[in-house]
Amino acid sequence: MKIGFIGLGNMGAPMAKNLAAAGHEVAGFDTAGVSVAGVTQAAAMEDAVRGCEVVVTMLPNGAIVRTVHAAIIAAADPETLIIDCSTIDVESARAAHEAAGEKGLMSLDAPVSGGTGGAAAGTLTFMVGGSEAAFAKGRPLFDIMGAKAVHCGEAGAGQAAKICNNMILGISMIGVCEAFHLADTLGLDRKAMFDVASTSSGSCWSLNTYCPAPGVGPESPADHGYKPGFAAELMLKDLDLSQTAAEKNGAATELGRHARDVYKAFVEAGGKGKDFSAILEKLSAG
Ligand code: NAD
Repeated sequence: MKIGFIGLGNMGAPMAKNLAAAGHEVAGFDTAGVSVAGVTQAAAMEDAVRGCEVVVTMLPNGAIVRTVHAAIIAAADPETLIIDCSTIDVESARAAHEAAGEKGLMSLDAPVSGGTGGAAAGTLTFMVGGSEAAFAKGRPLFDIMGAKAVHCGEAGAGQAAKICNNMILGISMIGVCEAFHLADTLGLDRKAMFDVASTSSGSCWSLNTYCPAPGVGPESPADHGYKPGFAAELMLKDLDLSQTAAEKNGAATELGRHARDVYKAFVEAGGKGKDFSAILEKLSAG
């Protein structure tokens, strides 16, 4: 397939590289002038888009996606499928679908989980919104860039699934960090707390797989000085998106709001660039 790839940052570069390594003809464009092994570097975005069967975007936020998609739609062939893998607000995702639909182009919102490690290894999970036909066309590419693709529903459903999942993650990570902190203050050994809670009703991904306390669970960013992993500022971005969506749609998400406020304070107080599990370090420091 001839594929255009717009946004070759920490996530986009390895994803584009994997598509090229699988034998596809990939043209890439990034405003920062990034070059990626196996990917033809286009001088202008339009050059990366023209004549492509699929255009993938991996960009920082909804405003940028709206602008970039308008330019892609203007330059793309009529049969092109546009797949946006960025994590953005549901409204912008729906607007991007609408703009593509007005020109008769197929589109998908397909945010990912799995981080930069998953992008490099081609083991991302894609949460996908859009028509059945668009999903069927995009599927072979999801199979290269990821290990799993779930068709969640119509336009915007992928973004909705992503922010709901990450709201659970933000809340549960704070819960696990607070439990370790309480255990410390009670003189309970962290290893004992892990051994009990990870095999009891407190078990969850934040504790069992990504333990925020160093040395007591499987290897995690806590064992490497909280080098991300998943940076606290990215968690804040996702909690801002879930909270904005909750407020717009009248959903009561008290703990989601609280989790957003905790990460906002953490990022502003020097947590930027640290893994999102470093909340425990902050609690321990007092
Ligand atoms: P990044 O900042 O490393 O990459 C974004 C890239 O987009 C940059 O290289 C930037 O130069 C480029 N860009 C910005 N405006 C552009 C434009 N108008 N035209 C072309 N290129 C442009 O970010 P990232 O970590 O790769 O994340 C990308 C998206 O994936 C974000 O929406 C993020 O929330 C999401 N995400 C990231 C992770 C992660 O662990 N990094 C995990 C899951 C989802």
